[in-house]
Amino acid sequence: MRYISTRGQAPALSFEEVVLTGMASDGGLYVPDEIPTLSHDDLAAMAGLSYAEIAFRVMQPYVNGEIDDATFRGIVEEAYATFSHDAVVPLNQLDANHFLLELFHGPTLAFKDVALQLLGRILDHFLQKRGERAVIMGATSGDTGSAAIEGCRHCDNLDIFILHPHQRVSEVQRRQMTTVLADNVFNVAIEGNFDDAQAMVKASFADQSFLNGTRLVAVNSINWARIMAQIVYYVASAVALGAPHRAVSFCVPSANFGNVFAGYMAKRMGLPVKQFIIATNANDILHRTLADNDFSKQELVATLAPSMDIVVSSNFERLLFEAYERDGAAVKALLERFQSEPSALAEAPLARLRESFASHSVDDATILEVIREAHHRTQEILDPHTATGYRAAEQERADAATPVITLATAHPAKFAEAVVKAGFPGVPLPPHMDDLLEREERYTVLPAELSAVQQFVAENRR
Ligand SMILES: *Cc1c(COP(=O)(O)O)cnc(C)c1O
Repeated sequence: MRYISTRGQAPALSFEEVVLTGMASDGGLYVPDEIPTLSHDDLAAMAGLSYAEIAFRVMQPYVNGEIDDATFRGIVEEAYATFSHDAVVPLNQLDANHFLLELFHGPTLAFKDVALQLLGRILDHFLQKRGERAVIMGATSGDTGSAAIEGCRHCDNLDIFILHPHQRVSEVQRRQMTTVLADNVFNVAIEGNFDDAQAMVKASFADQSFLNGTRLVAVNSINWARIMAQIVYYVASAVALGAPHRAVSFCVPSANFGNVFAGYMAKRMGLPVKQFIIATNANDILHRTLADNDFSKQELVATLAPSMDIVVSSNFERLLFEAYERDGAAVKALLERFQSEPSALAEAPLARLRESFASHSVDDATILEVIREAHHRTQEILDPHTATGYRAAEQERADAATPVITLATAHPAKFAEAVVKAGFPGVPLPPHMDDLLEREERYTVLPAELSAVQQFVAENRR
């Protein structure tokens, strides 16, 4: 298997290269040139297996023999041993046919742990083999930096620098990052806002000369290995509910589309999925595109579900590539036009998307209403991201007979502000984190100046 770019011009890469590369040189995203299949028998044989074993079987074709099976099994087992629930991603039945897939039992209480616990270890494996080191840089508004840090803290060949806006991150979210005291973890509080931090990370990727040849690696959701890791829980949860003998539907709180694209890949591999429901918050480009063919940028809105606050949905490009039947030139033309003006999809690709995907947008007032309503009906307190999914699933599911699985993307304690706004006294942190507010912190405050940040990275990397 090779990996090819959605814009059709960058060279094809191996799995190892694609994990180390991130975005393709033509501006596209990498996808496998052929989609491996899971037969009816393959799926049937997964019933009753551990999550790690299912993960190994689903991902092994994508790894393409570039990590030997025994080593890869070890990496997968180690990654998912960091989760606090024995099932890794347990299913929680809400009513007769609506299930929550709890993806928040990892170290930072959100679904990004599923992919980042694996990606850090895969990167470290390849770097060790090559005798190289790498630097990871990222910017966070608070909610997602910790998952990258937790994914890399044990990686001998990686140093990770995460920039957050100084004094503009909630205490719980800051502490999830700054209490990781590993030698290779560097938290930088920028005296500026999130956009300043992000601009400095972008500039550092564009001109990496300050690192004197050391590789800078991106672990954001355009990295193929993150998609690969996320395919697994679609397969595991569907099998738990009776696949391949019966179909299920999924409802996915979505932003950059990495999560739901992984579900689409599972379907393409052979998983019987009736329907994908895309839930968005008020930043609704995905919903507008599917419902009205309005593929245009709109002003960013700060919502109660901040991990879904986006203007552009980066991984949607991977789905467009499939909808346009892998015509890289057409995808490139569409996305270049989209950068500067409101656009629309061609009729046939849009019709293809509508065969598999429904969508629904949920505003902040509705998020609060859903948190109350879901608690009243099921006793569960949903986090605000999951709340968008709960409502979208109830509104858009095609039929009541097919089980619908809503992906619970974060633990409510991580987004307690919304829960309190909905009228609840708050949500306690899970037991393994209940001393978070007493733990020692370490971070460095720097001015919002590129040269200061780059000097800090260059001096502190090991
Ligand atoms: C990142 C994130 C999302 C959105 O996932 P995408 O893969 O970007 O669509 C939803 N909920 C939470 C809690 C997240 O952290």
